[in-house]
Amino acid sequence: MVQGTDAGIRLAWPDVGADELAEVADVLASGQLTMGPKVAELEGEVARACEVEHAVAVSSGTAALHLALLALGIGPGDEVVVPAYTFPATANVVTLVGARPVLVDVDPETMNLDPAKVEVTPRTKAVLAVHLFGRPAPLEQLPDVSVIEDAAGALGARRAGRACGGLGALGCLSFHPRKIVTTGEGGAVTTPSAELAERVRSLRHHGWRSDDMPAPGFNYRLSDILCAVGLPQLRRLAELHAARARLAAAYEERLRDLPVLAPRADEGDVHGWQAYVVQVDNRDEVLKSLRAQGVEAQIGTYALHRLGAYNGLGSFPGAARAFERALALPFHSRLGERDLDRVAEALDKLVTSH
Ligand SMILES: *Cc1c(COP(=O)(O)O)cnc(C)c1O
Repeated sequence: MVQGTDAGIRLAWPDVGADELAEVADVLASGQLTMGPKVAELEGEVARACEVEHAVAVSSGTAALHLALLALGIGPGDEVVVPAYTFPATANVVTLVGARPVLVDVDPETMNLDPAKVEVTPRTKAVLAVHLFGRPAPLEQLPDVSVIEDAAGALGARRAGRACGGLGALGCLSFHPRKIVTTGEGGAVTTPSAELAERVRSLRHHGWRSDDMPAPGFNYRLSDILCAVGLPQLRRLAELHAARARLAAAYEERLRDLPVLAPRADEGDVHGWQAYVVQVDNRDEVLKSLRAQGVEAQIGTYALHRLGAYNGLGSFPGAARAFERALALPFHSRLGERDLDRVAEALDKLVTSH
């Protein structure tokens, strides 16, 4: 790790540089800016990383979630189980296809959905399971129902020896700048099914199927320029992941004796380390003070039932607790030992336990 500086400490910093620039230059020189070879190349790398047959590049993680639902034919009258603590896009897409998101509470410690709380009815078409912040969720404990993985933050994560993003009927990845691999904006849908992959490909590209358009679709394509940004990072994914795992270990060591719940994966799993999200009792106070000291910390994510779009859907104490306690710490490869010391020392002075 490099030495830090005394300037502010950023929350995230994408791992992009000369390799990405060279790859983008290739695309510009080729004159083919979309639907070109970089798209297929990126899809190949994503499929390989997720150990799954098919990957389809799309314009965002949210577009990936939207198309995954449509590929399964989910629409009005259907229900989809969604964890109550997640990035809101996970539930928004369910609402926007005309189906009903059924919120299920999360385990307040792991912050992932609690499979024991999932109830399947004849209307339940799928569970949208999130590997939150990269921590693999216990999918194998879910009832017998189609699983869509929201693996937006789980590229490189593994559940019981298997790659996340390859565990469900479909997997959804994001390449937003706060994810381990970024294209600026972007995403992908993965699936072991050739038929589902074809549906996603068609929906991504206006609904075209060879020279016919049997049903309308979207323009959710990812340009070759953006695929070029993602490719070098995908090729060095193991390296990027190892660097994040080292950073997580360095944080854990520094936070060991503090009243801070540090993130980890279940025994036998590999955490994806999209973000480093701890839990503390006095989160709001800690967050405010960290920011005042130039440390760019952030909340974890949202308790959906506390947003206008999803209030009145029930009481979810696990999600409420996670929402109140979760704190994302600065987490990227430019952080040095001194930066981590600075964050840990600040936390040592701020965190109280009750
Ligand atoms: C980032 C993220 C998304 C949305 O991805 P975008 O690419 O920003 O649309 C959805 N779900 C989870 C869990 C995420 O972390």
